[in-house]
Amino acid sequence: MANIHSFAASYSEARDKFLAAARVAGATTWRYDNPTKGPKGESLSTDVARLGPDDASRVVVTISSTHGVEGYCGSGFQVDWLASVGAAGLPPKDTAAVFVHAINPYGFAWTRRVTEEGNDLNRNYVDHSKPYPVNEGYLEIADFLVPADLSQATIDAADAKLAAYRKKVGDVAYFRAVSGGQYSHPDGMFFGGGGPSWSNRTLHAVTDRFLKGRQDVAVIDFHTGLGPYGYGEPITHYDINTPASRRVRAFWGESVTESKRGQTASQARDGLGHYGLNRVLTEPETRLTMCTLEYGTFDRESGQKAFRADHWLHKYGDPLGREAGPVRAAMRRQFYPETDDWKEAVLFRGHQIVRQAIAGIQHGAL
Ligand SMILES: [Zn+2]
Repeated sequence: MANIHSFAASYSEARDKFLAAARVAGATTWRYDNPTKGPKGESLSTDVARLGPDDASRVVVTISSTHGVEGYCGSGFQVDWLASVGAAGLPPKDTAAVFVHAINPYGFAWTRRVTEEGNDLNRNYVDHSKPYPVNEGYLEIADFLVPADLSQATIDAADAKLAAYRKKVGDVAYFRAVSGGQYSHPDGMFFGGGGPSWSNRTLHAVTDRFLKGRQDVAVIDFHTGLGPYGYGEPITHYDINTPASRRVRAFWGESVTESKRGQTASQARDGLGHYGLNRVLTEPETRLTMCTLEYGTFDRESGQKAFRADHWLHKYGDPLGREAGPVRAAMRRQFYPETDDWKEAVLFRGHQIVRQAIAGIQHGAL
């Protein structure tokens, strides 16, 4: 039975619940220590639990906290699956579950979207040896997105500039400028540059250890913040009419949205985790079938307000001072609505998507 008490109230509690649930499920765990600390000086790590045979050729993977604070959602699901489904949900032969808990533990603990390097991890999986993509739109509006002070007069002036820009370019270009990813402002929103972040390197280490050379790998990366409240949308980024894009539809049915068909509100283009894994898990050795499971919370504008205050706090304010409390509270509410109905919806959909993925990897090539 799905249990809303699988969700935690802090990063540390989430980690404890995850390790306890892994133990109950009989999973083996690994720890990857992050070099930074949380706001209370707490230790941070990414933890991995594996259930099923070491050499299974079919692996289902879940990832929580790619965007730090969004980890409340993914962690709650992972704990719930380990505690309430576990080995009973896996076929008896040749299938393993690998659960990656808090791939961005800094962001989770600090109630931020970004990593300790200020990276949007889901824009950071670019080829860092090449020139970074240029986001012309972001250059125009960077200072209005994150102004130097949050006085009402400054905010009103910045919002007027943003509204004028949005009117000039239209909604799609506007949201692409804001959230498509940028590689020019390290303190700004959706920054993906500067080199592979610790979380990026850790996901690659996890991939080398648990996924390389496996035949069929399904990955579900848990996110929150876009779409209708409580609904989990499986978003994919495969080129259309490829074996992989046919597989995602065979696995998850008609609810899959494909960014390459313009079916999703996500404007992410470069540096997605999906592309990072796609470069190292390649056919014909490994068939990777991946989706971002994006749960809706509140509207996009309130998300932008929360980001603005968060980036202001870490660029101009004191992240340990009195002004930090309301900033973190707004971020947390935006990406983790702590209501029972939202949690129930997350668990129902999460179990459905993971069950479909496990069924899907049994069928191999399509
Ligand atoms: Zn996200």
